Amino acid sequence: MTTPRTVLVTGGNRGIGFAIATQFVAEGHRVAVTARSGSGPEGALTVTADVTDAASVDAAFTEVEAKLGPVEVVVANAGVTRDTLLMRMSEEDFDTVVDTNLGGSFRVVKRASKGMLKARFGRVIFISSVVGLFGSAGQVNYAASKAGLVGMARSITRELGARGITANVVAPGFIQTDMTAELPEATQAEYKKSIPAGRFASVDEVARVVTWLAGEDAGYISGAVIPVDGGLGMGH
Ligand code: NDP
Repeated sequence: MTTPRTVLVTGGNRGIGFAIATQFVAEGHRVAVTARSGSGPEGALTVTADVTDAASVDAAFTEVEAKLGPVEVVVANAGVTRDTLLMRMSEEDFDTVVDTNLGGSFRVVKRASKGMLKARFGRVIFISSVVGLFGSAGQVNYAASKAGLVGMARSITRELGARGITANVVAPGFIQTDMTAELPEATQAEYKKSIPAGRFASVDEVARVVTWLAGEDAGYISGAVIPVDGGLGMGH
């Protein structure tokens, strides 16, 4: 039986974040999600937060702490893309993606570390992407932001590892979401050819890796990059 923890998932109103929150609820944890609109799964507390704004992140944590107790597990999942070729990428395309994906994760984890240090326990999980280490044409901003999470997790591991806090990176490949479902059949088939597993993953396959990393069995894993990509990015 896993110890019930207080968990906060950013961007838990849809996609992978919603699936992660659903899995934590199913495993008996006290779960909160942040959302800018909509809400998380049944059984989870939804709080409003924009991860580009430190005051908004702080207010969300304060609300979760008051209602569910100090956050012991944080999943930095909120993310955006602004894909275009390097030559055409504006400063704004770059800044928005880096400020949300990397800066947002920093704000969330910095705020979470307060309670984790006091409790001498914490699990930090960053949702990166296979493209962080693999690279991707048209995603200079996104890949850079996702690669940055690896340095962040490893630095947190070195800084806080002795205080019972782990920090890891989950790097999903192609995941079945609304976005991938909308791709034409031929494009989907082309992508699948490059994936050794020959298929996309379900959001649940990502979610179960995240809850496992938050559990007792993963207590000695820190600074790791865990791919959930069917072998697409292997070799890094
Ligand atoms: P979605 O686009 O479905 O959801 C993104 C989530 O991030 C939404 O909840 C969104 O909230 C939230 N978000 C975006 N910007 C902000 C912000 N400034 N403040 C707070 N929340 C914000 O994404 P996915 O579920 O597909 O992806 C989730 C994570 O997984 C992302 O980090 C993504 O990069 C990563 N990933 C996804 C893959 C895929 O195949 N889908 C593959 C590899 C990695 P709102 O609804 O308010 O916009």
